[in-house]
Amino acid sequence: MRRLLPMLGFVLLLATAASAAPDPRQAPDELATGLGAISGSRMMADVARLSSPAFNGRQTGTADDVRAAQFVAERFESLGLFPSGDQPLPGSAVGPRWAQSKAFTGSSIQAPARMEWTAKDVTTSARLDPDFLPVLDSPSASVSARLVFVGYGISDPAQGFDEYADLDVRDRVVLFLRGKPEGYAASVTHADKERAARKHGAIAFLTATGPIVSAYETRRGINRAPAAFYSQANDERPLPGAWISTDLAEQLLAVDGRSLREAQERLNRQRTPQSVPTNVSLHLAWDSRREAGTLVNVVGTIPGQDPVLRDRTLVIGAHRDHFGRQAGLLFPGADDNASGTAVLLEVAKTLARSGLTSKRTILFVSFSGEEQGLVGSRLYISTPPLPLDQTIAMLNVDHAGIGNGRLTVGLTGLSKEGAIEAGKMAGVAELLDLYGFFPGGDHVPFKEAGIPTATIVSAGPHPHFHQPSDTADTVKPEILERAARYLLALAWHLANAP
Ligand SMILES: [Zn+2]
Repeated sequence: MRRLLPMLGFVLLLATAASAAPDPRQAPDELATGLGAISGSRMMADVARLSSPAFNGRQTGTADDVRAAQFVAERFESLGLFPSGDQPLPGSAVGPRWAQSKAFTGSSIQAPARMEWTAKDVTTSARLDPDFLPVLDSPSASVSARLVFVGYGISDPAQGFDEYADLDVRDRVVLFLRGKPEGYAASVTHADKERAARKHGAIAFLTATGPIVSAYETRRGINRAPAAFYSQANDERPLPGAWISTDLAEQLLAVDGRSLREAQERLNRQRTPQSVPTNVSLHLAWDSRREAGTLVNVVGTIPGQDPVLRDRTLVIGAHRDHFGRQAGLLFPGADDNASGTAVLLEVAKTLARSGLTSKRTILFVSFSGEEQGLVGSRLYISTPPLPLDQTIAMLNVDHAGIGNGRLTVGLTGLSKEGAIEAGKMAGVAELLDLYGFFPGGDHVPFKEAGIPTATIVSAGPHPHFHQPSDTADTVKPEILERAARYLLALAWHLANAP
């Protein structure tokens, strides 16, 4: 058996090598040439550059992200992707002809951010990042109050489920789990939970992933660590809040001898509220700063070559923005989404420079504002550079740099057969996991506008999801290469369909 193992490894290696090369019977000559031109090391260099301190985490609305937009624009310019003339793009009244832009006020957490908790007369400091991360659009916090556990934090009497019933949380900090009980049909967002907490008089919140994690959360890379996010409750008066580690949430409940796992199990199985006050006092302190700036989408074009079909458009997009610097921590966003940006740039280069045909017009869009509620892709939909009713599909690439070597593809309005055919041409058909709609990402506004979409994500765990550890050294050139090969083949296939 021991002798067989190295052989098995060799066979697997051969199989991988075989599937990575385009099948000459499947890929037409010009596409095979394009596939051969794709370079993982070139994309790695772009990932390293975009996730370096030079761009400071590319937060939407900051000068850092505008510099990242210029980086993309210079690349598009060098490929000849900007039409001549001085007309600004729709959605950008005064901007340059390559940009869609709008005013955008961002907020960020200033350093230092502090969290402490007191139980049985002992005060313990929670560690920023391993134990807690402030919610990024959280207002300034200066809170000292008792902690109340409120289960999943759901208050929906219409569904017969109210975790705030008979509970006094006025002037308290509430702790709720992320997600919802297993099998709970109604939709519950984080903003709903924040609203419920505020309505019941809470002055701050903590949220944590429960010890029992759903398959979807596992796929998104959610683990026991806190992650950065915008609560997007900003249409109302938001509460200060933080995401804490599962370990810390367990510790806080253990003060009164309670088990978080048991509470979550009961919520999942019996759906009876497990809400309870604790003997823990929570202290939160940080400043949050709001700053006015500009959101920028960069748009490049390859005009279609067919006299009739050139009026039809294929959009290829990737978001460029990430979380910037928060509470003194840099969020480099290498996998999210310097990786997709690098893939976009590589596919643009290949389509523009490797003699590939494109009957239909192709638009390349580097979106900003994705992390803050798809603001950039919504700007595109509200002011499209080319008509939406002539747009045949939108291909989105996001989180394409790490994982298990397979590709996850979410399709809406596009056939699985076509997606598989493109996979065969790219030599990756055996590595595709096809799904339907993915609920988050820049493809969503396109789908809502009735445009078919495909979202390409590298499959397997993304353990650095929304964390400061999402750095370029965790990204793999061969994974970028697979995503780029597949995106190129799918784009070429759609742009040239009869
Ligand atoms: Zn993200």
